[in-house]
Amino acid sequence: MPATGGQTITSLDPATDKPIATVHAASAEDVDRAVKAAKAALVHSSWKQLPATDRGQLMMRLADLMEQNRELFATIDAWDNGKPYHFALEEDLTEAITTIRYYSGWADKTFGQTITTTPQKFAYTIRQPIGVVAQIIPWNYPLSMATWKLGPALACGNTVVLKPAEQTPLSVLILAQLIKKAGFPPGVVNIVNGYGRDAGAALASHPLVDKVAFTGSTATAKVIMKAAAGSLKNITLETGGKSPLLVFPDADMEQAVKWSHSGIMSNKGEICTATSRIFVHRDILDVFTASFKKAVESVRIGDQWDESVFQGPQVTRAQYDRILSYFEIAKSEGATILTGGAPYKPAEAKNQNGYFIQPTVIINATDSMRIAQEEVFGPVVVLFPFDSEEEAIRRANDTTYGLGASVFTRDLERAHRVAAEIDSGMVWVNSSQDCDPRIPFGGVKQSGIGRELGEAGLEAYSQVKAVHVNMGSRL
Ligand code: NAD
Repeated sequence: MPATGGQTITSLDPATDKPIATVHAASAEDVDRAVKAAKAALVHSSWKQLPATDRGQLMMRLADLMEQNRELFATIDAWDNGKPYHFALEEDLTEAITTIRYYSGWADKTFGQTITTTPQKFAYTIRQPIGVVAQIIPWNYPLSMATWKLGPALACGNTVVLKPAEQTPLSVLILAQLIKKAGFPPGVVNIVNGYGRDAGAALASHPLVDKVAFTGSTATAKVIMKAAAGSLKNITLETGGKSPLLVFPDADMEQAVKWSHSGIMSNKGEICTATSRIFVHRDILDVFTASFKKAVESVRIGDQWDESVFQGPQVTRAQYDRILSYFEIAKSEGATILTGGAPYKPAEAKNQNGYFIQPTVIINATDSMRIAQEEVFGPVVVLFPFDSEEEAIRRANDTTYGLGASVFTRDLERAHRVAAEIDSGMVWVNSSQDCDPRIPFGGVKQSGIGRELGEAGLEAYSQVKAVHVNMGSRL
């Protein structure tokens, strides 16, 4: 429905700076209507009384409909976000569909426990939905972020108001149509496009919202946490990172270079778990740096529609400007740009105003510099040498973040020792960025609170009720 305030969002193609489509932008009043619809649906028999197996079937049907619309979704997300179409099709869509399928299977498999206390007394627990869940998502994986949030929430029987990022408002609207087509009762899923400061803020503070689940920047997470405190809402926050990747001297060099490259440069570096700090043992620093530089310089940059393109434009001009500003910050702090460090101008006339940036490697930085501490969220990485395992771990942990971390070594004991010592929610051994709906995802320190995906995702979207039963006398 149209927004009551008449506000709109025009989404731009980041490769051309030209408009794609204009959508309605919700006001606080629209958010209120959506929350009330979700509240009504929560207790309506069509959802509350629906057997859990049937709930799973609805989700399975949704996954099938998404599968049938794979190319459409990939086209929209590529267009809106700037990621190459072939990656959107193969990676984002696979992840989105698999996530809904995975959680459809969980819908009728979340059970409680029976706990006997004395011969006369026992208790049982039941897992119940939390209630109305507000979900606020970012622009880097528009459709798959929506499915990470919707999958566990719906499997557990919650109702939802989801706000996509204003930078990428389009694909979730198609998802909304398919949710309707799959047969979900009205009000179970409500999509409100809108700006963070209006719709997002109204949603995070709405008294009828029982939980807020958010993915985005740490700064916004802090604002949301405060807003949610008003009515003591349950929260899950998945925020930023400055994830380290450690390369030990015994590592398989080819693999280390390959994963170090994709760990920061895929999705144009717009990944919350991007391994944006690479620590390389001094004994192999020169060899690693030469082949990493070669890998970074060898990729094709261009618009979303060319199959040979690895790196598309950054999502918005604001993000593009922000990344470029970090090159100046790094240089003014005394770091050196080994390669990149400037806008990229594609040859095609239609892409002259696109938000393209050269993939960039920075050296000669110290751990305390802003370029080593702050999340850039672009194709920018800092390379550091180290001399010992203890030093590598200490420096890897020396940020306010703790989302992902990679370790490259062929020494089994070292791999597990380092994995245990790194402050992060996820560690990849001889890999980077592996992500699977079966495996919990989330951060420590200022990278977040709570876990998404896997069985842990169900805990985030359900609450345990204990029912005490007295079978004996009134003792
Ligand atoms: P953001 O955190 O401000 O936006 C994420 C979502 O939060 C969007 O839907 C936005 O509308 C909403 N939002 C913004 N302000 C809000 C408020 N006051 N109340 C409720 N919702 C609000 O991120 P951004 O401004 O788009 O990007 C800035 C930086 O955030 C990036 O450069 C990057 O470092 C980081 N980021 C991280 C992730 C991630 O996956 N962890 C994703 C996107 C951006």
